[in-house]
Amino acid sequence: MAHRIVNFSAGPATMPLSVLEEIQAEFLDFRGEGMSLMEMSHRSKGFDAVLVEAEALVREVMGFSANYQTLFLQGGATGQFAAVPLNLGESGKTGEYINTGAWSEKAIKEAEQLGQPCRVIASSKDKNHSYIPGNYTIGDDASYLHITSNNTIFGTQWQDFPDTGNVPLAVDMSSDFYCKRFDPNKFGIVYAGAQKNAGPSGVVIVVIRKDLLERSPKNIPTIFNYSTFAAKNSAYNTPNTFGIYVIGKVMNWIKAQGGIDAVEQTNRNKAALLYNLLDSSDFFRPHAEEECRSLMNVTWRLPSEDLEKAFIASALENGLSGLKGHRSVGGIRASIYNAMPTAGVEKLVEFMKHFEKSNG
Ligand SMILES: *Cc1c(COP(=O)(O)O)cnc(C)c1O
Repeated sequence: MAHRIVNFSAGPATMPLSVLEEIQAEFLDFRGEGMSLMEMSHRSKGFDAVLVEAEALVREVMGFSANYQTLFLQGGATGQFAAVPLNLGESGKTGEYINTGAWSEKAIKEAEQLGQPCRVIASSKDKNHSYIPGNYTIGDDASYLHITSNNTIFGTQWQDFPDTGNVPLAVDMSSDFYCKRFDPNKFGIVYAGAQKNAGPSGVVIVVIRKDLLERSPKNIPTIFNYSTFAAKNSAYNTPNTFGIYVIGKVMNWIKAQGGIDAVEQTNRNKAALLYNLLDSSDFFRPHAEEECRSLMNVTWRLPSEDLEKAFIASALENGLSGLKGHRSVGGIRASIYNAMPTAGVEKLVEFMKHFEKSNG
């Protein structure tokens, strides 16, 4: 057995071990082709089958209808901060945003930089993004509403998605892609950098309602044009072939777990192990407000920065890595994505109890 530690990294992040093993097993000779998938032309029949399968699996796992299409693009979620306003912005209308943290802010800044009319209709900045705003009104002139479904840095998560009527809802789901069931018909577009919950870095998954493809103007950079990539099933230029292949495997892994509902149940159980401990202790201080807590990124502080440093160092000695919080919150962040086994969270909880006893 390879030496493997419990990896709480926020991203790139832990992957299902069985997926890594499958990749390893077919790494040199993919499906009898006599070459690695990495060595295959993106125009080959062999890769095309992988692409067609992955495109369908992404929709199937969440139950997206045939009105939606999966795209596999490059430039990360950060590229989508530009692509959304470029493709979905309509003349005379305004892109609307809800600011729930650093990633929302980057999306807003990108739209502003492009000179697109945009407006922030709600923000959680007043309390260092420890909650999800509930009070906002979507304008009649909105071309889309953009939200960040899970705030990776702050550890908050939308529990229910807003009803936007005819205004397309655009969601950055990078850090909670397919962590729980949602109603796919509510969305205009969802996108996610794969490296947190769906695969390796270097590919961003986009699921878009097909009628919105008609909005893409011709004069935007081709690399960001949804309709161009949709017409070529993501292979307008060379896509991230390896990333797409791994995403297909992760989708099949979700199915093998019993599908999205089973994965959600496991995620809820894992998160409860941590939140129950945080709630029962005065030593550990959760950052996110209770009703907005993330199933994916759990954030908390300790009584002092010295104790936080000691916690992180001691955790690492115990085979628990990647727990340092982002500097804008400080403290500790445990990223417990789909692929984090329950046993990994249990190990962390045991460590925390022990640490509190020795230092509390
Ligand atoms: C990590 C992250 C991003 C950035 O993704 P890149 O693929 O590195 O561009 C954007 N949004 C959220 C919510 C993230 O967690």
